[in-house]
Amino acid sequence: SLQGKNALVTGSTSGIGLGIARSLAAEGANVILNGFGDLDEINKLCAEIASETGVKVHYIPADLSSGDEATKLVEDSIKTLGSVDILVNNAGIQHVSAVEEFPADKWEKIIAINLSSCFYTSQAALPAMRSAGYGRIVNIASVHGLVASPFKSAYVAAKHGVIGFTKTLGLETAEDENVTVNAICPGYVKTPLVEGQIKDQAKVHGMSEEDVIRNVMLAAQPNKRFVEVSELASMCVLLCSDQGKSFNGTSVAIDGGWTAR
Ligand code: NAD
Repeated sequence: SLQGKNALVTGSTSGIGLGIARSLAAEGANVILNGFGDLDEINKLCAEIASETGVKVHYIPADLSSGDEATKLVEDSIKTLGSVDILVNNAGIQHVSAVEEFPADKWEKIIAINLSSCFYTSQAALPAMRSAGYGRIVNIASVHGLVASPFKSAYVAAKHGVIGFTKTLGLETAEDENVTVNAICPGYVKTPLVEGQIKDQAKVHGMSEEDVIRNVMLAAQPNKRFVEVSELASMCVLLCSDQGKSFNGTSVAIDGGWTAR
């Protein structure tokens, strides 16, 4: 159980981050949600998670393409809940384009949000974790932190960077009492966005949804099934628990065999 722990999950207004926030709350951790979205809907979400789990749930907006805002997000979270014991760096964006046409502003944004924000939030969160004798940083990287695909140069570079950063912090915290830094590397995950893509691709290619999943979207994922958000959330809970205390500086691939190739 994570009863009484305080967690900040970046990019948790949708998708994987939201699933992780829900699971941490279900384990008893108070949570700070962050990310973009409609304020009324986000407030509803906070109230819903709070009433389902009995924990405190707050929303703190921040644009993580700014280092200053990333630092301030952690400071504000500490002010709101009293501490950040669990930091999940999940916010991320993607852009797909050949390198010659890759827009420079997209490159900068992807590096800032997907990689540099992890530096700013971790730097702000670590000192108090170390003095408290408990802390968990979980970086949501990707299989693209371990292997590449064409046309995703910024994303692949940023995610490889996240894994390097994770290894380094793992070593820097190695002798601290119960402070760990790890990464989760998901393969293709079933989020509402992806479900929409399956339907669209099926129409465009005149293929069945099954064929689109198998031969288009999951061409590189050997098990030919999407990873469920709940599987990632369960791993995050394990990494944060006492039984997770010897995972450090490592990357856990949850990818249906993708990186075994
Ligand atoms: P998503 O688009 O559903 O959620 C992304 C979240 O990040 C949202 O809450 C969004 O508001 C927030 N966000 C975006 N830009 C932000 C910014 N500048 N500042 C603050 N918040 C911002 O995406 P997702 O699929 O849930 O992805 C979450 C993470 O998982 C990302 O880091 C992504 O790279 C990684 N990932 C996703 C998949 C997949 O198949 N979906 C696979 C591997 C890794």
